Amino acid sequence: MPATRRDFIKTVILSTGAVFVSWNDVFSSVPASKNPSVTTASLHFSKAHELLRDGNTLPQFPYHAVTTDTVIIGGGAAGLAAAWKLKKLGRDFLLLENEPAIGGVMKSPIPQWQGIPYPLGSTYFYRYNDLYREFYNDIGVHPIETGEDALYLGKNGIFVDWWNPRNLNSLPLPVKDKDAFKKFRDILLVMPIPSYPLSAAFKDVIKKYDSISAAEYVERCGSHVLTDTMDMYARSVLGAPLKEVNAYSFLNFYSLEFGDAYQIPCYTFAGGLGEIAIKGSQYLGKDHVQTNALVVNVRNEKDNVVVNYIDLQTGASHTVHARNAIVATQKQIAKHIVKDLPEEQVKAISAIRYAPYITIALCCSAPLFPKRAFDFWISDEQRRFTDLIDVTSAPDMASGCENRTTGDFIYMLSSPRPESDRKNMQDDRWLAEFAQKTAQALAAHISDATNKIDEMHVFGWGHSMVIPTVGSHQKLYPLTAQSVGNIHFANSDNDLAPGIENALDWGFRIADDVLKS
Ligand SMILES: Cc1cc2nc3c(=O)[nH]c(=O)nc-3n(C[C@H](O)[C@H](O)[C@H](O)COP(=O)(O)OP(=O)(O)OC[C@H]3O[C@@H](n4cnc5c(N)ncnc54)[C@H](O)[C@@H]3O)c2cc1C
Repeated sequence: MPATRRDFIKTVILSTGAVFVSWNDVFSSVPASKNPSVTTASLHFSKAHELLRDGNTLPQFPYHAVTTDTVIIGGGAAGLAAAWKLKKLGRDFLLLENEPAIGGVMKSPIPQWQGIPYPLGSTYFYRYNDLYREFYNDIGVHPIETGEDALYLGKNGIFVDWWNPRNLNSLPLPVKDKDAFKKFRDILLVMPIPSYPLSAAFKDVIKKYDSISAAEYVERCGSHVLTDTMDMYARSVLGAPLKEVNAYSFLNFYSLEFGDAYQIPCYTFAGGLGEIAIKGSQYLGKDHVQTNALVVNVRNEKDNVVVNYIDLQTGASHTVHARNAIVATQKQIAKHIVKDLPEEQVKAISAIRYAPYITIALCCSAPLFPKRAFDFWISDEQRRFTDLIDVTSAPDMASGCENRTTGDFIYMLSSPRPESDRKNMQDDRWLAEFAQKTAQALAAHISDATNKIDEMHVFGWGHSMVIPTVGSHQKLYPLTAQSVGNIHFANSDNDLAPGIENALDWGFRIADDVLKS
């Protein structure tokens, strides 16, 4: 039977494999005018896997070395924040980043479809004050507000800004459920919220909320609908089901989700947080940054740190001598490259869990929903996806076009996956088939969805999101991020909780420590 548009949507894999545009035996093609200009480079996992994970023989490294005061390894949000601080204070540093561009999970360069930039990784943030604002101002980024989220209840409607007291009562739910939503919200709005960094948090609060799962906390409200909604949230934002993440991280994160009615604005950029990476990179300039630099070795030697890296473009091997190193990669990688980690630290690091994650940009020639909102939460039974961010909504709102109903729209679909799927994140065919099945699953909720989706651009993340598991803040935190000699750690996984703010905060603080040393 010939393929129809409804059956097959053109699927572009932007992941670790090649950019994939012509699988005509599996997917129907679309008119040439609709072809995407995909410029995203693949991630450099294969070399890292070969040399770090699989323990293949490393090349010889030269004795002669570049010297610097501080070497930063990894240019995600944490590495960028540390570099910003050091540059601002006139300190010498060198940032080594494995990818062709800095950004990490913020993802740059920013991909586009029909000239519209869209995110495949981090998309929004909340804290735009104090040091965060200084950082954003210095690098020259100007965020826009996201607007509100929506709860999608299928035939029963779409409820934008549902936490707002004006709207909560109109949810088509039994009174018992609505009361549970209100109770949950009202408690969170007044209770002392568990906070990060963990080093400054009260130990008894950590103990109280890290010892129980978020599910245990939410279930006390007695509503399956609330628990189901929060389960989607936990998977999307914390990388695992509600029953697997601790109540500490969940309460910290969700306390910022109640919207403008409670004066809690949320921010983004057209194309997501990749804008921070692009402007941050311009701020740092070329002299202090080496991209395509895969670090394979970091060790203390007398009072210095020695770093070996391979230039992935030329294959040449290099050595850097520095007074300090800030390892801003995830611990999962740090444990392979930092040679003198104590055994118990390696053991604790190995116990950290990370979620594989698939993001799919649904490129549409019509809106998928009859209402505009920022993030649509849809309860898919199989949890193939949790939410869809309309990445065109905030720029539309900023330019006064929030009621637009024609033209192009892009939705970023979040699909946090169980760890057993990690091996599939580098398999183009698996990812493409997953995307096709996901589109069909979406069509079960939104009947004409597949007719409106012109293309899907798929990205598979491997170890991108640290999962704040139950007990991790007490058992793992004290060990995993310990400095070793002059080697210090900065990454959002330092606190066992994901998020751009956690990453930036660790970057700022570790740079301070290095400045004091
Ligand atoms: C799909 C997705 C969506 C998300 N959305 C949001 C969001 O909307 N808002 C939010 O607040 N948080 C979000 N998060 C979480 C947040 O993005 C991350 O917690 C945060 O950006 C991580 O920053 P980081 O600097 O700690 O680590 P990373 O971004 O992982 O940076 C580590 C860097 O180290 C580099 N590196 C690794 N190994 C080496 C090596 N051997 N040599 C040299 N360099 C190396 C990597 O290439 C990378 O650039 C999201 C996460 C995911 C996966």
